[in-house]
Amino acid sequence: MSTKITGRFAPSPSGRMHLGNAFSCLLAWLSARSAGGRIILRHEDLDPARCRREYADRIEDDLRWLGLDWDEGGSEGGESYYQSNRRALYEQYLEVLREKGLIYPCFCTRADLHAASAPHASDGTPIYSGACRSLSPGQQRERAKHRAPALRARVPDREMHFIDGLQGPYSVELARDCGDPILRRSDGVHAYQLAVVVDDALMGVNQVVRGRDLLSSTPWQLWLQEELGFSHPAYVHVPLLLSGDGKRLSKRDGDMDLGAVRASGVSPQSVIGRLAFFAGLIDRDEPVSPTELIPLFDWGKVRKEDIVVK
Ligand code: GLU
Repeated sequence: MSTKITGRFAPSPSGRMHLGNAFSCLLAWLSARSAGGRIILRHEDLDPARCRREYADRIEDDLRWLGLDWDEGGSEGGESYYQSNRRALYEQYLEVLREKGLIYPCFCTRADLHAASAPHASDGTPIYSGACRSLSPGQQRERAKHRAPALRARVPDREMHFIDGLQGPYSVELARDCGDPILRRSDGVHAYQLAVVVDDALMGVNQVVRGRDLLSSTPWQLWLQEELGFSHPAYVHVPLLLSGDGKRLSKRDGDMDLGAVRASGVSPQSVIGRLAFFAGLIDRDEPVSPTELIPLFDWGKVRKEDIVVK
């Protein structure tokens, strides 16, 4: 018997949703719905400086306007679907890792981390040098007098391999290509890598559909799942929508956010039709509802490469 798919929308409410987010949500929704599966909405509002409840409400309104519904979570699901209310859980799982000897304090400053000599990952972020990996307890105590540490996980020197549902086989050397991830920032905010692993597991998510920019985070997440005794969800990393300068759509591209799109008077079916056309699901850019796309959906049709949209 095949397991029922549980997918999710996991937006960060740090601003208005843009077409790139809507594109990932549409594909996550179609993947689950076309297989008779469910969708959970979880607001990833861990960073208090960037995230606001009103943005989360706006995301829900934009998803509903597009015709993308969910079965569990969101504001109707209650406070436990907002990551900011789940800190005690993240701390509990951090403790499990700490007991396994996998956590160490890191006192490096932003400048240390961005030092010119640091090797960089394929997405341009610096790979942690390991400078604080082998500080003695005495050194740790001394440094803690001057600076609150972040907490990092000590990753093993091993290959991580998985098969992405769209991008195909993906392998990296965890220590060399990814380095030790931060799991709790120096200001006490738990990191995305830990929160997403704990929440996907505790919420029963078994299929993660998200933007290709998160492909490079997946090896860390697979490893954390193993260390915490969780099973691995299936991963499908979808293309990014790019603006003409080759950069991923972001808040800079204000005309591509759902606020501007809705204000222009366009119908939700036109937006969905355009996204489905970008994805390769329909041959012409014409209005369609998400429900009408369900029988047409097939991952085999979905393009793998990023898409320039303006
Ligand atoms: N909250 C993340 C974002 O909006 C997505 C996390 C995920 O899908 O794993 O970029």
